[in-house]
Amino acid sequence: MERLKKMVRYSYDNVPMYRKRMDEAGVSPDCIRNLEDYTKVPFTVKDDLRDHYPYGILAVPIEQVTRIHASSGTTGKPTVVSYTRTDIHTWTRLMARTFAAGGINSSDIMQIALGYGLFTGGLGFHYGAELLGCTVLPTATGNTKRQLMMAKDMGCTVLSATPSYAAFIAEAAVKEGYDPHKDFKFRIGMFGAEPWSDEARLRIEAALGLRAHDVYGMSELYGPGVAVECVHQDGLHIWSDEFLVEVIDTDTGEVLPEGSHGELVFTMLTREAMPLLRYRTRDLATVKYEECQCGRYHPRIMRVKGRSDDMLIIGGVNVFPSQVETVLMKMEGVGDQYQIVVDRDILDKLHLKVEVDERLYNSPDYDPAAFTKLLGEELTAIMTIRVRIELMEPGSLPRTEGKAKRVIDLRKE
Ligand SMILES: [Zn+2]
Repeated sequence: MERLKKMVRYSYDNVPMYRKRMDEAGVSPDCIRNLEDYTKVPFTVKDDLRDHYPYGILAVPIEQVTRIHASSGTTGKPTVVSYTRTDIHTWTRLMARTFAAGGINSSDIMQIALGYGLFTGGLGFHYGAELLGCTVLPTATGNTKRQLMMAKDMGCTVLSATPSYAAFIAEAAVKEGYDPHKDFKFRIGMFGAEPWSDEARLRIEAALGLRAHDVYGMSELYGPGVAVECVHQDGLHIWSDEFLVEVIDTDTGEVLPEGSHGELVFTMLTREAMPLLRYRTRDLATVKYEECQCGRYHPRIMRVKGRSDDMLIIGGVNVFPSQVETVLMKMEGVGDQYQIVVDRDILDKLHLKVEVDERLYNSPDYDPAAFTKLLGEELTAIMTIRVRIELMEPGSLPRTEGKAKRVIDLRKE
């Protein structure tokens, strides 16, 4: 509460947008005495960042800004985030804590196969791993053959990547003639920047012989390192000394009681350069407040189920791509890559392209018609719309080194 009150006052005094909004809502920083009072403060949304591009939400003069990151805007201007020296330090400390919670220590050698640059992934992981005392190998993305060679030669013990790139590295390793369990020393994977299912996790863990942790964050909230799974992998601990979390009803904006499923809203409690009050993430999840087996009391996000803006409405039915992934990754014979294509002629149509894994594809028993039928049956259990399934040859769908493009919605074009 002390930090929160201070932050509301700081934002009101230094950012015209917050002063105007709070004045309009009839809230003054002095009326915030408890968390209930705080719910009167208006939300901040992603469009606010775009509308105030590039420096509109800055609470400090530009001379005090040490670094700027930006998220790739698919349309129009990117979302820009600024950091003071103290902000970078805070973020770095949170990343070091994130790794420590995952069981990483100073004797680990971390290969960081994430994009370095405007994307917060590479540099965020990098600084945190160095602070923790790890040996850092900043391979960034790309040149997968060299990644594999270095992983083996340097004896890397931690792999940091997006989950889809981790799956790709595992696949490439086998193609290049490595035995990941014998040739690599990976013991922990730190994966984030895109949603992935528990089933995808099990596959990556089995393929690379490591324990895979989900790292949650977004550039608006410093970057990665907002929350992470501890060694018990039972929800992601939110670093609640820096981030106040609320769960709201997406439609009404009302704060929901503990344990409800809803949209995650974060307030940054100490950020200097660009304060964010009640920032709506569009991520849907449940937050658990009980003590974890690891002994931490930090509230836990019970795995992000999907983003409310990733949800597809197909023929009037809500479809989360993560549900489709869960079904696919559970099935033997399905490869690691798939693509959902949504199109419309008179009615909406869902077309699912699924790679068959190498083993099934080359097996004499492989019967595409029967396999398609089986897949169709599994999918109708979660969806009430008809799906056209197309089985693909192993390796035929495009691979990515960053976030995978799983959904192609042709209705938007
Ligand atoms: Zn824990």
